[in-house]
Amino acid sequence: MGFTSDILHSDRRGGVEHGSIHKPVHTAVTYTYEDSRELAAVFQGKQPGYTYGRQVNPTVTALQDKVTLMEDGLSTVAFSTGMAAIGTTLFSLLQAGDHFIASSFLFGNTNSLFNSFAVHGIEVSFVDATSAGEVRTAVQDNTRLVFVETIANPRTQVADLVEIGDLCKELNLVYLVDNTMTTPYLFRPKSVGASLVVNSLTKYIGGHANALGGAITETGLYDWSTFPHLYDTYKKGDVSEWAITQIKKKGLRDFGATLGAEAAHHISVGSDTLALRMEQACRNAISLTDFLNDHPAVKKVYYPGLLDHPQHELAGTLFRYPGALFSVELIDEIDCFDFLNNLDLVVCTSNLGDTRSLGIPVAHSIYYEMGAQRRASMGIDDSLVRFSVGIEETDDLLADFEQALSL
Ligand SMILES: *Cc1c(COP(=O)(O)O)cnc(C)c1O
Repeated sequence: MGFTSDILHSDRRGGVEHGSIHKPVHTAVTYTYEDSRELAAVFQGKQPGYTYGRQVNPTVTALQDKVTLMEDGLSTVAFSTGMAAIGTTLFSLLQAGDHFIASSFLFGNTNSLFNSFAVHGIEVSFVDATSAGEVRTAVQDNTRLVFVETIANPRTQVADLVEIGDLCKELNLVYLVDNTMTTPYLFRPKSVGASLVVNSLTKYIGGHANALGGAITETGLYDWSTFPHLYDTYKKGDVSEWAITQIKKKGLRDFGATLGAEAAHHISVGSDTLALRMEQACRNAISLTDFLNDHPAVKKVYYPGLLDHPQHELAGTLFRYPGALFSVELIDEIDCFDFLNNLDLVVCTSNLGDTRSLGIPVAHSIYYEMGAQRRASMGIDDSLVRFSVGIEETDDLLADFEQALSL
């Protein structure tokens, strides 16, 4: 079945109470059983069921199942935010003395999180992940995991996804891919051998800037029986599920970064139109970058859909479309703040993946705290403006950019 047909009916196929067309919002924090032995059986994992809301909730479960379908995975755990998903996963799987490799082109907060892991005894090497060779060079005896994003934000570097997948397989490393920028509609990291997939549900999957959420999906491709840091209590049943069980049973319990039922409902309803929204947003991004690439006020456009993008070909092979996010550097005569102020339809804000088009001067906002040196190493120029393209009509966006640059 098609992407949308599949997810639209996933709640219903999971069995919805009272024939509700949506999975209802279950606000109960705790669940009870007529027979206390049943409660014990649920706690001991001998019987499926709900216990306490920090770890399980029926509305959240329905969303998890939907994300699993989207990623063609085995199972999913949802979290309160994308950052919670990444942090809890690494905390659940790694221990002091371990080393992991991450792309140097990362979402700023993920970069910040990984530096926090480093001060707590889990070593990280940041490498140029557009080359699997760079990843290979950074491998040490204690390397456990490689973390990359599909398309990095804001400069849109595409990780060497296939080759890194092969390398992780060869060296038996966990391959954790953040699919937020591409979404499972444009790309499934499972196709390049990802062990686990991260999605910030806040962005395109939820899509309407009305709920925060994150998810980790198990693809079933890693042999967890070889992974040293799993506790015996979670090594039950299918080996493929051991790690995700530990992330859920221990990680979610320890940190409590639980997705709320209302947020899960918002995200779930939003996700029904993911494919339709991505079609329009990517179409808009392609038109806008074509227009801006030829504009005399623009020095450089960064978008994998453009011929001069270093990973243009790879992106064309792997992704259904080159994404809905691009960045521009302006000529020196134009101030990036003036440009943003001149835009009327485009909203100046930090989010991405919204239905509305959004723009932000990244060096002066989301990447300000990391300092000039690290920004330079990530290729973030002071004039760089990032755009997350929404689903407005293409002509309206083109007209807005045209007037903003002609002033
Ligand atoms: C936004 C984002 C995150 C974090 O998601 P939140 O839901 O904001 O915590 C992680 N990775 C990428 C690529 C993102 O864009």
